Amino acid sequence: MSNTRAACVIGWPARHSRSPKLHRYWIERYRIDGDYRVEEVTAQDFPAFIADLAGHGYVGANVTMPHKDAALKLPEPDARARAVGAANTLWLDNGRLRSTNTDVEGFIGALDTAAPGWHERTERAVVLGAGGASRAVVYGLIERGVKTIHVANRTFEKAAALRERFGPSVKPARWSDLPRLLDGTKLLANATSLGMKGQPDLAIDLSALADDCVVADVVYVPLKTGLLAAAERRGLRSSNGLDMLLHQAVRGFELWFGVRPEVTRELFELLAADIMKA
Ligand code: NAP
Repeated sequence: MSNTRAACVIGWPARHSRSPKLHRYWIERYRIDGDYRVEEVTAQDFPAFIADLAGHGYVGANVTMPHKDAALKLPEPDARARAVGAANTLWLDNGRLRSTNTDVEGFIGALDTAAPGWHERTERAVVLGAGGASRAVVYGLIERGVKTIHVANRTFEKAAALRERFGPSVKPARWSDLPRLLDGTKLLANATSLGMKGQPDLAIDLSALADDCVVADVVYVPLKTGLLAAAERRGLRSSNGLDMLLHQAVRGFELWFGVRPEVTRELFELLAADIMKA
């Protein structure tokens, strides 16, 4: 019998996922007897597929659209997945199917790399968006002790729902409040899909941000979004969506293969080249 451990990304569609390239890099680098595959599974078939994940030959999986809600509800979510209200990673814990959310450490890991010590001087942050990525970003900022987090969203009610979920440090805001909120801010994070290839641009004026502000974007196609280009023109430090993607993959790999992998420059370049081709 083969001892090869395997994980996969489950989605519909999933063939464009960059996760195989990323996890196979680590499998090779750490000389692991492992594999990482793509499984295209419809929403209808998803519950049965994950109920027999081991039978399909897997010790765990990443989950992408349209299964993110089901991935939270069907397995046993850990505290972090429950807090964020979304799961992107599954693993078999002594035969029990568990789910977690790794976008929190993805965002924070990328930020720590781009601007070490950022949290020591950040009392107030502005987060754009109120969907799944935003919940992970807001949770990570609260964990790191940011006291006030303004969440601006096109649909105000969704920003207000984040206050219900995370408490009074979240201040829901309207898009029209942004000029006032950005004034003197030391951390701005885009957690909307604006600026992504095929989506409208994120057009905001960065001139009022503090001179030592860090600008983060969760979007990674293109690599340098309009927001990150504007931050660069203002001489601000920035954290990009590809670094977030790489850092969020670390814990899944460790849960499945038992090795905590390193996010290297070489890995960044490998994935960056793939994105540039797209
Ligand atoms: P989501 O739950 O659908 O949320 C989308 C957010 O974008 C909502 O706040 C939505 O506002 C806002 N939005 C969309 N179109 C807009 C527009 N035209 N004008 C203003 N706001 C708009 O999606 P998600 O899962 O949070 O993903 C958001 C982005 O994060 C995607 O680009 C995704 O690829 C990226 N992401 C990256 C990583 C990474 O590792 N780098 C991880 C997760 C997600 P409304 O509420 O008003 O609709």
